[in-house]
Amino acid sequence: MTTEKGNGPRRSDTYLAAEITAPGRVELKSLPRPSLGADEVLIEVKASAICGSDLHLYHGKHPDAPLPSAVGHEMAGEVVERGAAVTKVQLGDRVVVEPIIPCGTCHYCRLGQYNRCLNVKYGYRTGRSGLAEYYVASEQWVHHLPAELSYAEGALIEPLAVAVHAVRRADVRLGDQVAIFGAGPIGLLTLAVSKAAGAAQVCMVDIRQDRLAVAAALGATEVVDARLEDPVEYIRQASGGIGASHSFEAVGAQGTLVSALKVLRKGGTATLIGIFENPQVGLEAPIFVQREIGLLGSSGYCWDFPTAIGLVRRRAVNLAPLITHRLPLADVDRAFAAAVDREKLAVKVILEP
Ligand SMILES: [Zn+2]
Ligand SMILES: [Zn+2]
Repeated sequence: MTTEKGNGPRRSDTYLAAEITAPGRVELKSLPRPSLGADEVLIEVKASAICGSDLHLYHGKHPDAPLPSAVGHEMAGEVVERGAAVTKVQLGDRVVVEPIIPCGTCHYCRLGQYNRCLNVKYGYRTGRSGLAEYYVASEQWVHHLPAELSYAEGALIEPLAVAVHAVRRADVRLGDQVAIFGAGPIGLLTLAVSKAAGAAQVCMVDIRQDRLAVAAALGATEVVDARLEDPVEYIRQASGGIGASHSFEAVGAQGTLVSALKVLRKGGTATLIGIFENPQVGLEAPIFVQREIGLLGSSGYCWDFPTAIGLVRRRAVNLAPLITHRLPLADVDRAFAAAVDREKLAVKVILEP
């Protein structure tokens, strides 16, 4: 099988990729340069971002990924080599990667609902780190990165697609009143997408002032520090006494889930995107009937990358306030240390060559 290569400087036979080797320990490993399948492209990574799930891995607490493990799945870069059958991208194209690997043949894949794939895989669980010099992807999961977007913005398209999917699932519309519990990266991006969808009011609740400041920069109409006031009461008042039409739980805890339900007006919908480390929660079952409220979950993304790219391209979503740290890949250990240290006030940590 022949592959087409760029005629830049000859690249070496090995490349560096991050690996979580033990809890709290991340190292750059030298790996042999991959050979490409006919439908695959080699991407020189120009920017990658650390995700909350990468931090679970870093702490050795990821349920599906025993250590040592590859790490990272949010990246953008340039196509530098392509397999013989690739037609969608050219050498030199700027791209972002959708890092999901669905089976393509199960019930859900055949319906096009690939985020529900029964045999889904992710690159980092098959040994491909996104925090690396190079990444191999099948061309069908590569999207063009418009010239208006920086590579750092490109690295944030993946978490933005998670937020796009959640806002679509929730069906937020023009004039809606939205409450979001949890100003982590996904909660913040859900705020930005809710605004872009036309929500009239978006209230962000968190217990970190630095995160609430980012929420304000992204256009939150209200921010509530839950240590200082009762968010449910506050939002009820801010919405004319009736409560939010939509709420999002982006923490993964019993208290915020209960609040996300309590804050709803009758007929409202709460959407769950937080990852629960403690899976058992207690809820007052009768409120679902008495108040005709709904609770639904949102998982990953499904045909949401083009929408996410479009939102940034036309500046309906501004990613700049989320990028708090930029470090070279060589400092990946410092990057993880910054991402987990609350004193460093990190939202998104970007790694660059
Ligand atoms: Zn992610
Ligand atoms: Zn499938």
